[in-house]
Amino acid sequence: MQYYSTRDQQKIRGLLASEAIEQGAAPDGGLYLPEEIPRLAGALEGATRIAELAAISLMPFFADDSLAAQLSDVTHEAFDFPVPLTRLEEQLHVLELFHGPTAAFKDFGARFLASCMQRSVLQKRRTVLVATSGDTGGAVASAFIDKPGIDVVILFPDGRVSPLQARQLTCWGANVRSFAVQGSFDDCQRLVKEAFANRDLAASLGLTSANSINVGRLLPQIVYYLLAAQKLGRPGERAPGFVVPSGNLGNVTACVLAKLMGAAIGPVILACNANQTVPEFFATGVLSVRESVATLASAMDVGDPSNLERLRQLFAGHENLQATISAVSASDEQIGTAIRDSNARWGRVWCPHTATALHALARLPAERLKEREWVLVATAHAAKFAEVVEPLIGARVALPAALEALLERPVEYQQLRPRLSDLASAIS
Ligand SMILES: *Cc1c(COP(=O)(O)O)cnc(C)c1O
Repeated sequence: MQYYSTRDQQKIRGLLASEAIEQGAAPDGGLYLPEEIPRLAGALEGATRIAELAAISLMPFFADDSLAAQLSDVTHEAFDFPVPLTRLEEQLHVLELFHGPTAAFKDFGARFLASCMQRSVLQKRRTVLVATSGDTGGAVASAFIDKPGIDVVILFPDGRVSPLQARQLTCWGANVRSFAVQGSFDDCQRLVKEAFANRDLAASLGLTSANSINVGRLLPQIVYYLLAAQKLGRPGERAPGFVVPSGNLGNVTACVLAKLMGAAIGPVILACNANQTVPEFFATGVLSVRESVATLASAMDVGDPSNLERLRQLFAGHENLQATISAVSASDEQIGTAIRDSNARWGRVWCPHTATALHALARLPAERLKEREWVLVATAHAAKFAEVVEPLIGARVALPAALEALLERPVEYQQLRPRLSDLASAIS
């Protein structure tokens, strides 16, 4: 399988999977996509465990690549936690993606990417540099800890991540170093871009990226959609609909890829917070990028979602896109109502991101709800956002054991001024 860039498709193409993964973003600023979308084969039916399903279904994406022979090892190492599909009501299910080590769905992509990079023969020594506003840094650190030959550098905005997220970003040691940057998330991202643009620095450290535009984080996210579609198994016109909490649109792009591969997936609804770029684009066809606004679903506070470029590439023309996907926005108040209502109705407590999906579902007309099964995608454990959720429901939310264990580790990080020269001397 060969990969091409969404931007300069004439010039940047013909990369194999591990080359696209190693590069992260394309040199023209575009995102890598596979030249073809492989169709699912009947062989999937026998695979019931997610690691097996992943090894079979992702194999065509690694055709001709040196990682193909090790793909089964990669998927068994990366997907070693449960992925329950639980039922709330007769035709309403929740795909729980928060049972990995850092209790958010970012674990799927980060763990798969780490296992691939560890086995890739393209570079001897590398430094994974990530800017994070919260969840990504923890998932990447947890996935890369103690991987031989790989250093991890995490930049986060000092004082602007939640207390639990701060612990998760700074409790690693070993090959993971964390820096509290005196500035905003945008400053962190700018530093990362400047570091990559400095060829000497990038080459001497073997800089590589683990952010969500890396195709090595996108591909593994396809698998849980295949799993859910297989379990609910109703292809054709009545295939289940999926509601996906969305920010940078990586998760929903994976859902769409699974559908294009032939999985039994019906309509796809994008659930957004008060950041209006995406809902407005789906309603009008006009893209107007803006500054992000802060909401209760903070991991989705994105004003300029990178993966929209991939979605537009996968569908020729806005009408085709609209025929499959729609988008709904939830205000903070509606997020709060959804969390309280779910607790009262089903005794289940969800994180603010998952609550945007509950809101989108509640907005569907009753006849649309009845015509098929629906799957809500749950992206993080509610305990990660206890300061939002607990006052709403008036009760404590217990931490999952994996998070509890992280909180017991000692914290270790350095302060950093947002200047490339400071970063370079700190990590060289
Ligand atoms: C990152 C994240 C999202 C948004 O996912 P995208 O792939 O960026 O659309 C939603 N919920 C949680 C909990 C996240 O961490």
